[in-house]
Amino acid sequence: MLELVSMEAHSAIKPRVRFAPSPTGHLHIGSVRTMLFNIAFAKKHNGTVVLRSEDTDKERSKPEYEREIVEVLEWLGLSWDEGLTLEAGYIGSKGEYGPYRQSERTEIYKKYLEQLLASGHAYYCYCTKDELSAQEQSLSSQGLPPKYGGHCRAVTSPPAGKEPQVIRFKTPGANVEHKDMIRGTVSFDAGLFGDFVIAKNLETPLYNFAAVVDDYEMKITHVIRGEDHISNTPKQILMGQALGFTPPHFAHLPLILAADRSKFSKRYMETSLLSYKEKGYLPEALVNFLALLGWHPSGNEEIFSLGAFIEEFDMRRVQKAGAIFSEEKLQWINGEYLKRLSEDEFMKRLAPILTARNITASDHFVKRVAMAERERAKTLGEVFDLGGFFFALPDYDAALLLWKDDAKEKTRGALEAVKEILSSVEAKDFSREKILSALEPLIAEHGKGSVLWPLRVSLSGQKASPDPLEIAEILGKKETLRRVELGAGKLGR
Ligand code: GLU
Repeated sequence: MLELVSMEAHSAIKPRVRFAPSPTGHLHIGSVRTMLFNIAFAKKHNGTVVLRSEDTDKERSKPEYEREIVEVLEWLGLSWDEGLTLEAGYIGSKGEYGPYRQSERTEIYKKYLEQLLASGHAYYCYCTKDELSAQEQSLSSQGLPPKYGGHCRAVTSPPAGKEPQVIRFKTPGANVEHKDMIRGTVSFDAGLFGDFVIAKNLETPLYNFAAVVDDYEMKITHVIRGEDHISNTPKQILMGQALGFTPPHFAHLPLILAADRSKFSKRYMETSLLSYKEKGYLPEALVNFLALLGWHPSGNEEIFSLGAFIEEFDMRRVQKAGAIFSEEKLQWINGEYLKRLSEDEFMKRLAPILTARNITASDHFVKRVAMAERERAKTLGEVFDLGGFFFALPDYDAALLLWKDDAKEKTRGALEAVKEILSSVEAKDFSREKILSALEPLIAEHGKGSVLWPLRVSLSGQKASPDPLEIAEILGKKETLRRVELGAGKLGR
């Protein structure tokens, strides 16, 4: 059994942690949360973060996914000290324990596989697929679990006419315990695993084995990863023990669940984090959101920077129960960040969205629209979804112009009066204040709703918009009059 280590003792060691994604698909929310918590723990204790590519699955691993990992982390401002890097568009690496890509470490794994074979902790298995399924069937007909029964355990030389199929670990039938930093003592009955496969051959190790070797060779002190890996931990501890390694400490982060506590949908898990960039989420907002997926600060403030998160991070405040992913919360957090940006910074962040949407209006006009919509928008993209009407008036139903029970005639009359009054305001004075003071007598006569509601709808084509007087100021006199006339016209003669 592993030595129990107190939280204080964890902080006494300068941790070396690793984020070890497999580049077999898009980098998703759960993985990035793992990286973030690794960073928080390591940096809190002045430690080191390693980025390693676990590309042992040759068919499914792709360089473009590896590049995406680096790109997403860089976009989010999540940095690391050692491992893969993206320099001049090329994936390289930095650090003294490289290479940091498993496919380039074959010789290292081979050495340890040979060690396990020589010490009798591993053996070649000659059972073919057909033989394995026959063995499994026979076990399940006896009501036994379908693990490998150890058929080749005692085979010392290759049976005639047979080729080695895989290398298996000789699993001792013991209980394996580890003291998880989040979950406390976790124990597994290793007898249930059977002799699992650790490599296809000396040159082709599987993830579970390669990870143990790498964690040792890269001097990893703490393995912080998703709970979905918790059943790998006892196997990795056993392999490590067989190789004479001191095991690292483990922390298994809670699963991420959908709002109804069901398993997080595959769609989300497969959605690249870069799609959030395209939608106009701010990287710092996303990081803030991820920090709250399974962890909470000591106070009530939910908006905090990465630096503040690191400062406050405490593994004891990571929950065991699944963390609920709420899209609404993400939007709320992003909206808060949007509101807090300076005007200049806000416009800078909007620039890629303007390019993507081919928005070519004058800088001044775009800025006015953006500032008017910033309060409502939850993403940068929404600024122009909501504010699209500034650029082109959408078609709308005439009935939308009517305030409460107002009749068509009354509303038309109000719009015609608005038009006449605003015609006399000088174009250069067409400010919110001037427009309001010009309209005040009309508002006093008909009531606020009966004047400002149809004005809002005629200017925006929508029932929810920024203040109609502000819209008028932004649109300018000419366009305002054109839209008001169009609205009146919709109500007939
Ligand atoms: N390569 C594994 C994955 O992407 C992570 C393994 C680990 O953290 O130990 O799920």
